[in-house]
Amino acid sequence: MTEKSVPAPAGGRIEVSEEIPELAILPSLWNELCAHAVETLPEECCGLIGGVEEEKFRSVYRCRNDMTSRHKNDPEEFPRDGATAFYMNESDYLTSMDIADKDGELITAVYHSHVGVGAYFSELDQVFASQQLFPLPEAHHFVISVLENRVHEIASFNWQGEAFVGRRLTSAGALKTHA
Ligand SMILES: [Zn+2]
Repeated sequence: MTEKSVPAPAGGRIEVSEEIPELAILPSLWNELCAHAVETLPEECCGLIGGVEEEKFRSVYRCRNDMTSRHKNDPEEFPRDGATAFYMNESDYLTSMDIADKDGELITAVYHSHVGVGAYFSELDQVFASQQLFPLPEAHHFVISVLENRVHEIASFNWQGEAFVGRRLTSAGALKTHA
């Protein structure tokens, strides 16, 4: 595991690259992510995405965000609450991995939302993705930006050899619009 984990972040947030083409995901997946992000307001949502070879991003596995209760129990160790950070409920996480496995899926992405800010990959996000205990070094990290109670955009970040690179996601059924 250790040799597969990615190095610690160099510092600073990572923005979506405008040079990399958007990645289209299934409309059902897009809608499910949007629904989860709006339902958990004013807090961040989080969860896993499972897929198979023919459909890499197929199923959403919601996990509860435990950050607010962690923060209340130990504000020194967890200075943020669920509005600005997420801590995936461990039992939800394990159950999701189990269901995905039984369905013949691999966990191909981890997702969480940002409330009131854009879909960038924060330093904290990079720390989360780089930790050696995180068993999914190949996973994509989907970040859902929620502004004024609506999903503004979704981006995906993944490790590409020497850095995390971000691209915009789009719903495969949606018409492309540029405001
Ligand atoms: Zn984040």
